[in-house]
Amino acid sequence: MALDTLDLGVLAAIVLAIVIYFTKGSLWGKSDGEDVSVPRGSSRDLVEILAANNKKALVLFASQTGTAEDYSHKFAKEFQSRFSIPTMCGDLADYDYENLNEIFTSIDGFQLVVFFTATYGEGEPPDNAVEFFDYLENECDDLSNLKFSCFGLGNSTYEFYNAMGKKTVSTLTEKGATLVGELGLGDDGRGTMDEDYMAWKDGLFDILKDQLSLEEHELVYEPQIKIEESVLTIDSPEVSLGEPDDKYINPSQEEAQSLNEGPFDHTHPYLAPITVSRELFNSDSRHCIHAEFDISDSNLKYTTGDHLAIWPSNSNEHVFKFLDILGLSEKKDVVIDIKSLDPTVHPHVISPSTYEAVVRHYLEISGPVSRQFVGSVAQFAPTEQAKAHASKLGKDKALFHEEVTSRYLNIADLLHVLSDGVKWTSIPFAFIIESVAHLQPRYYSISSSSLSEKQAIHVTAVVEQEKYPNVDHIVTGVATNLLFNIQLAQNKVSNVKPVVTYDLAGPRQKFAPFKLPVHVRRSTFKLPSNPATPIICIGPGTGVAPFRGFIRERVAQTANDISVGKTLLFFGCRNSSEDFLYKDEFVDYSKKLGEKFELVTAFSRETAEKVYVQHKMLERAKEISELLNDGAFFYVCGDAARMARDVQNVLIRIMMSERKVTESIATDMVKNLRVLNRYQEDVW
Ligand code: FAD
Repeated sequence: MALDTLDLGVLAAIVLAIVIYFTKGSLWGKSDGEDVSVPRGSSRDLVEILAANNKKALVLFASQTGTAEDYSHKFAKEFQSRFSIPTMCGDLADYDYENLNEIFTSIDGFQLVVFFTATYGEGEPPDNAVEFFDYLENECDDLSNLKFSCFGLGNSTYEFYNAMGKKTVSTLTEKGATLVGELGLGDDGRGTMDEDYMAWKDGLFDILKDQLSLEEHELVYEPQIKIEESVLTIDSPEVSLGEPDDKYINPSQEEAQSLNEGPFDHTHPYLAPITVSRELFNSDSRHCIHAEFDISDSNLKYTTGDHLAIWPSNSNEHVFKFLDILGLSEKKDVVIDIKSLDPTVHPHVISPSTYEAVVRHYLEISGPVSRQFVGSVAQFAPTEQAKAHASKLGKDKALFHEEVTSRYLNIADLLHVLSDGVKWTSIPFAFIIESVAHLQPRYYSISSSSLSEKQAIHVTAVVEQEKYPNVDHIVTGVATNLLFNIQLAQNKVSNVKPVVTYDLAGPRQKFAPFKLPVHVRRSTFKLPSNPATPIICIGPGTGVAPFRGFIRERVAQTANDISVGKTLLFFGCRNSSEDFLYKDEFVDYSKKLGEKFELVTAFSRETAEKVYVQHKMLERAKEISELLNDGAFFYVCGDAARMARDVQNVLIRIMMSERKVTESIATDMVKNLRVLNRYQEDVW
């Protein structure tokens, strides 16, 4: 029987309806509950996006390492939940700012813009905020409609403490914007970031209730993402097993080729082979790893003084303990679909994936727990007792410090203690993904020279494993213990047992043998453009890393008949036989550079009085002053907490004594060196 045109039309409509029903629109990218009128990434117009998604508040982040980003998401979620104000959280790099001032007049009922601003390097904006600050300074002239708040993330041991947070407030208010509440100052240097944030946020909420007449509600978890267990299996090629980004999942031949071509950045790393790794310490309890990443098969480039970002994964022990306390051990390989319920929210997890892959590769599970997390996880406690205890900890700063922070507990440890081992099976996995910080790359000062090692990047990383008094476990760092495990496996060391172990082969064996995802971050820590300029380098401990690169550069220049200036390096460690990094290499550099290189060592534990690099600087005061007079550049690398500030103070003292000037003139002289870029710091 032939179908006429009408029948065909009806049939087509039925087929279309069936397709829509069964795919829930996913064929063209629409998932349940989504308003996709202006999804993330399709427009840079703030007013358009906010209006289309019916948002009444905006949180923007300027983030370098991801911490400001995590806090901004946390804030946006709580703000929305507490005041029932639909809030969008976004990356400053994703929008244009021409109509920043019009948000309040164009969108009915719009309440507030909140900035989370980190400060990077020597008072610089994070990469994602460079254009924003450029716009503010050079193009923007009126922000008189803007009502904003700001939380700065900084480190008080740095000269330019919270410089960008302060700048955000001063620049916006200069343009007529109104600051609501006070600038929040989060201080990583004192280790109080979390408490500083909580105090600022609580204060701001009180002000908002008052000034904007906002009504506050009890905080209940409102998911912004949806997790569904999938029919796919761990063997399905489209499932992420922890690949660093989706380009690494099931690539075509052509796509696989482009994986080596870059560009490589914080969204797409290069999977670099580690060709050499070795132990630099001579100790049973302390370790420092030298690792060489081969970049010859890629377009990855660096220049001497840059930083290498290493993308780690969590240890087996931490992953299994975490899955266990959530009652997910049996289901670790189950595939889950992770979908956003809000088109402006973009989970930092590749979907589909498995429970284990998410925990191992995308979540920061082993670091300190935040008090806010404990307060909010209480609602899912498996026992009344655990619930009461978690709620109490969430509210009591001192108790939280005593029971959690001072015991170096991570999330799994804490959940375990709170419930006495009873599994927390009621925590939605969406809550875990939304509340636990995402696993971030760790940065390392590159210890090779791009002139001497064109095809390799070297790093020098001290392994973080600490046994604290009255703490029943060894506290470990994620990336450095991974490097330690690689070193042990690569060199077939069998007589050393690592505190934690890793899946070195990685998702689908892609990290075998001995590969890690990396990208390079350009730094401003650079040698003088004229190789004949003398340099003074202060680099105790792993602070010596970039100076090894500088010296290797000068060795290569000398071999190319380029005349180099003097390099005076101050290196410090505990003693000459345990942790004297690159001891033998320095002998070789001395031979090659002759009088153009001098190493001054300070061993803190070889004499009754502790001797540090600062003491050695004082001994060489005259020479330091003369070299600076000859145009030398002064570099400091390593510990930001004490050393960098002490070194600066010692330099001021040297100027006072050698140049016979007052403290204020000497201080100005050192400041001036910074302005001229002749005093550079690479500290962490
Ligand atoms: P993480 O997992 O980040 O842990 C950080 C610290 O927290 C560790 O000390 C860890 O023991 C502790 N910790 C873990 N769990 C808990 C808990 N539950 N409670 C409390 N504390 C806990 N480092 C180098 O060694 N060499 C370099 O050349 C170098 N260059 C750097 C350059 C820059 C620009 C920056 C920003 C940092 C640099 N660092 C360098 C530091 C490096 O980036 C890492 O921070 C460091 O190696 C630790 O990384 P991790 O993943 O091993 O530790």
